[in-house]
Amino acid sequence: MTSSLLPTYARAKVSFERGEGAWLVARDGSRYLDFGAGIAVNALGHAHPHLVAALTEQAQKVWHVSNLFEVPDGERFGERLVAATFADVAFFANSGAEANEAAIKMARKYHAAGGHPERFRIVTFEGAFHGRTLATIAAGGQQKYIEGFGPKVEGFDQVPYGDLEALRTAITPETAALMIEPIQGEGGVRVVTPEWLRALRGLCDEHGLLLIMDEVQTGIGRTGKLFAHEWSGVTPDILSAAKGIGGGFPLGACLATAEAARGMTLGTHGTTFGGNPLAMAVGNAVLDVVLAPGFLEHVRQTGLLLKQRLAALKDRHPDVITEVRGEGLMMGLRLSVPNTDFAAAARTEHLIVIPAGDNVVRLLPPLIIGEAEVAAALDRLEAACSALEVRGAAE
Ligand SMILES: *Cc1c(COP(=O)(O)O)cnc(C)c1O
Repeated sequence: MTSSLLPTYARAKVSFERGEGAWLVARDGSRYLDFGAGIAVNALGHAHPHLVAALTEQAQKVWHVSNLFEVPDGERFGERLVAATFADVAFFANSGAEANEAAIKMARKYHAAGGHPERFRIVTFEGAFHGRTLATIAAGGQQKYIEGFGPKVEGFDQVPYGDLEALRTAITPETAALMIEPIQGEGGVRVVTPEWLRALRGLCDEHGLLLIMDEVQTGIGRTGKLFAHEWSGVTPDILSAAKGIGGGFPLGACLATAEAARGMTLGTHGTTFGGNPLAMAVGNAVLDVVLAPGFLEHVRQTGLLLKQRLAALKDRHPDVITEVRGEGLMMGLRLSVPNTDFAAAARTEHLIVIPAGDNVVRLLPPLIIGEAEVAAALDRLEAACSALEVRGAAE
């Protein structure tokens, strides 16, 4: 059957009709354990009663009014994010790329407002992923996303992760900011060390640059802290969030200190959909759960259990898994078989995992999982590894 959809995705031949917690139910009734969570989006799993109630309640009142009017739930959502983080202000968008666009514009405008419009360049890191808009593909620097789309948006300089000399050289009088994911997600669950983040903070302070953290994938409890940078003790000036923040509803946020946001005055930025009442109702409901006492501790403990079990799995299957990486419930398995083969083998066992760069598969389960789901996932991973070994031996 030919599809009417643009063929930019190689979709797995399965479609899901409903979900419940960490499980997805396909049209034929078969159940899949969802350790992908729609790419780290379904932070509270599927059909979480508190989110369903918030969405349906708001849906019967008002969905959208535009940002020409006050949105009380948006004020409240902003206040709660500010109270829980380094930030003084929030801007709401609909996606990660849009949150990053706001972050990039804010960093440039900060310097323009300070009398230095020539400072507009942003240094990013190899393996980064910041989205698919024209500016964010330039920020991510991956040739496969840039090629064929005309001149690359000017103003992004990329350096290898961990190369302090290259970073120092890349910082010029035109540099506005450094931008980094605390753990590279699409890049292959590559964890950035606290030392490197401290080095970036130091360079920013030394040169008057802003530090932008892209926490679109790592944020909202994914690593066992509300935001992953909290593990390092290093504070950004600007932060982007999305993915888990709406629990499956399209929502993004750009958080910033008042100082970093000084240029973003009346009329300098906007969005039609961002922060609408429906999104804000769901965002607040996600925070109700994630900020409840004990929730992040539960993520940390479940993450630790998962990491230990994965390390043991790697020891049993060293010819399939070469490395276990990650923090909390953002784990990666580096493989010696193609990651797409591994994801397919896992899917045969009715377990969903997600390929990433560096020949890694990501495990990004809903944050609500417990020991039972970890055990069920490990059984399926074990079976997938064995199947891949049998196949490898037969070749
Ligand atoms: C997914 C992702 C984005 C892009 O988010 P979209 O919602 O797809 O625009 C940006 N940065 C990081 C780190 C991501 O993981």
